[in-house]
Amino acid sequence: MIYDWCSPQWSQLLALGERLPHALLLVGPEGLGKREFAEALAARVLCHEARADQQACGHCPACLLIASDNHPDWLVVRPEALEDAAEDADEAGDEGEGKAKSTQIRIAQIRAVTERLGVGAHQGGYRVVLLYPAEAMNVDAANSLLKSLEEPPPRTLFLLISDHPRNLLPTIRSRCRVLSFQQPARDEALAWLKAQGVSDAVDALALCAGSPLRARDLAGSKEAQIQGQFVDDVSRRALEAPLEVAARWEGWLRGRKKGEAGLTDMATLVTWLQRWMADLVLIMQTGQARVFLGRGEQLKKLAERSDVATVLRGYNELLKVRALAHHPLNARLFLEDLLMRYARLFQASR
Ligand SMILES: [Zn+2]
Repeated sequence: MIYDWCSPQWSQLLALGERLPHALLLVGPEGLGKREFAEALAARVLCHEARADQQACGHCPACLLIASDNHPDWLVVRPEALEDAAEDADEAGDEGEGKAKSTQIRIAQIRAVTERLGVGAHQGGYRVVLLYPAEAMNVDAANSLLKSLEEPPPRTLFLLISDHPRNLLPTIRSRCRVLSFQQPARDEALAWLKAQGVSDAVDALALCAGSPLRARDLAGSKEAQIQGQFVDDVSRRALEAPLEVAARWEGWLRGRKKGEAGLTDMATLVTWLQRWMADLVLIMQTGQARVFLGRGEQLKKLAERSDVATVLRGYNELLKVRALAHHPLNARLFLEDLLMRYARLFQASR
């Protein structure tokens, strides 16, 4: 799947034809479809029929092997925790059973791939190694991979994906051709979301920090039911009745039945509030929001009731409590404290 905003990178690469680099590092903010892009590229390289910058044909023998997840020259390296993400979702109730899955990419995984690369391509063409998130490699794994990147086996394409390339060993970065992905312009993202049938696209895009894919997923999720209320609450109601809002938000965290997931989680609420306050500071300083572009009026009204220093102080306090948001001892008290602090930012002592 190549999303519209990734098509320049696609044409750019495929124009290289046989001069495709042996290692590509796909970087950019999460939620842009980098992994889908890498998978489409892997399929394109293995496909027997596709020409020029076409995508994989989908029906040649290689494509059929890919579709059934059985292509011997398509190697995926990712942390164990991601391997089983799908299965775990089915067994969400059985928490705490068995050993915790590793969130790192370990040297044994890299070695297993290197061994397979030593054997030669089964289909006589390219081999593709898809590795993500690249920053999950521990130091040993990264050093082991480095050897393959320095002396790449013939007709092998390494595709590394990273949302946080700064966390990679510089030697890994320098051995790869870096391919950057940027968020699409807001109008483009909104048009795309509208075409996907997302009705509240403006707020959804804001809450997802500009990522169109996350905004689409949010729109189809349980969280969509509360996004509008959240913005209304922080615009007005939280200032007058923080405890009432804390009670409502706590309700969002609880499932309807015991053991059932709620509409959202605490970390998400804190992140949303953080983005909102960052925009408030921007409105005060520049008159222009960056994220909540559809809520300029509400932000301006709030801005009149406080000042930059006060809101920045509140923002910094929020950063400090963010770490606690994952496991607050008492969700209700945590939210009450959070929202009372928030309300106080607008009680002009001037
Ligand atoms: Zn094909």
